[in-house]
Amino acid sequence: MTALFMIAFYYIYIQFRSQLENEFYESLRSKAFLTGEMLVGKIKSKEDTKHLTKPNNEHNPLSTENITIYDDNNTLLYSFSQANINVHREKLDQVRSNKEKRFVNDKYNSIGVLFKNKYGIEYVIVAESVFNYTQLNYLISILVWVYLLSLLLTTLAGWFFSGQALRPVNIIMNEVNGILPSDMTHRLHQSDQKDELSRLVQTFNSLLDRMQSVFENQKIFLSNISHELKNPLNVITSQIDISLNKNRTAEEYKSTLQSVYEDIVELNDVSSKLMQLSKINSDGSSIKFDKIRIDEILYQVKYNLEKSNPNNLLQIQIGNLPEKEDLIYYNGNEQLIKTAFHNILENSIKYGNGKQITVAIDFKNGKGAEITVKDNGIGIEENDLKNIFEPFFRAKNTSQIKGSGIGLSLVRSIFDLHGFILNVKSEKNIGSTFIITIPEKVIKK
Ligand code: ADP
Repeated sequence: MTALFMIAFYYIYIQFRSQLENEFYESLRSKAFLTGEMLVGKIKSKEDTKHLTKPNNEHNPLSTENITIYDDNNTLLYSFSQANINVHREKLDQVRSNKEKRFVNDKYNSIGVLFKNKYGIEYVIVAESVFNYTQLNYLISILVWVYLLSLLLTTLAGWFFSGQALRPVNIIMNEVNGILPSDMTHRLHQSDQKDELSRLVQTFNSLLDRMQSVFENQKIFLSNISHELKNPLNVITSQIDISLNKNRTAEEYKSTLQSVYEDIVELNDVSSKLMQLSKINSDGSSIKFDKIRIDEILYQVKYNLEKSNPNNLLQIQIGNLPEKEDLIYYNGNEQLIKTAFHNILENSIKYGNGKQITVAIDFKNGKGAEITVKDNGIGIEENDLKNIFEPFFRAKNTSQIKGSGIGLSLVRSIFDLHGFILNVKSEKNIGSTFIITIPEKVIKK
């Protein structure tokens, strides 16, 4: 802004100066011609110039102007002032060749003109005077003052308007500083306007919503972990306490040890599931993927589960196998996929009322795959369905069956990591169906 002012003022100064100079030289020029006309205008031959006074005795010491006339030999014929300053021959020659020339002669600003009288005799007439800088200096001082004033005004206005413009930002910053992790319920004040700042406040508030829900979930998660670990530890401690407070038979010790062993196995299961869950959620990218075969994994899981459940409840059906063997392979981490299917199949046995369970793999002729695990067990209430993937959630109808509520959240994290889609359909007391869809794009080509 100030640079623009400076450029504008400089332009005004230059224009004014050139205007003044033009007027100054124009007046000198007409004086030069007038003098020429009067003194040498009617001279027929060089001899007639003798009457011209050289220098002129009528010199007025107060006059700052001088007019001199030179003949074609550069001889000074006439000078208006006694205190004339001789013009250099070179300058006179330049006037002659250019017909007119402006130049500076000592402290004078001069204009030289080539004057031809009516008999064709040429003279060089130089009119000179001291250029008056008073007006120019006056203009400069006005411009400097206006410039300083405008500088002051723009600084003040800039300071005032930027303060006004940034006021809402300052308010937002103060409000943000007041938000502490201990109270995540606080939100920024939202106005009804539709400007950028209101949108920023809205975005920030929705970020706070998400952060609050993560904070709360983590709190619940942590308190659940401590609860899940504390329960079996309490049971173990009291069992050992009871068996130690008096001498027991070998049978009694054996039964206590068996019960403690089962609790430790459960504890181990919970802690290993928690570790897997936190690894997937925090560092999923470091997990190695390889070629896996879902059908083989399912047979292995079935085999492992049937070691402790020998009722042969799981039935595997395979359909639409692709012609090319290559298309049967998928990209994934075998251990994690095994864990996921182990949890789903184990649940269908646990909650399956001892009835047949069908595990169907549809390879869709190589265009992705769909695995359906269908049991005819206790089922899940509609209200509970949306929660079964939340860590530590257990439906009410499972109170008689052991479990920690972590399995399905681990399953979901594993499938999310692989890009597999997991859906559940269930009806209480009828049964549940878990459907895992492997999109075509994750097939290993
Ligand atoms: P849990 O250790 O309790 O089995 P999961 O995370 O594996 O934990 O499952 C969470 C909840 O989902 C279970 O407590 C149960 O209420 C419900 N659930 C899971 N699978 C089934 C199923 N096949 N039939 C009925 N309910 C199920």
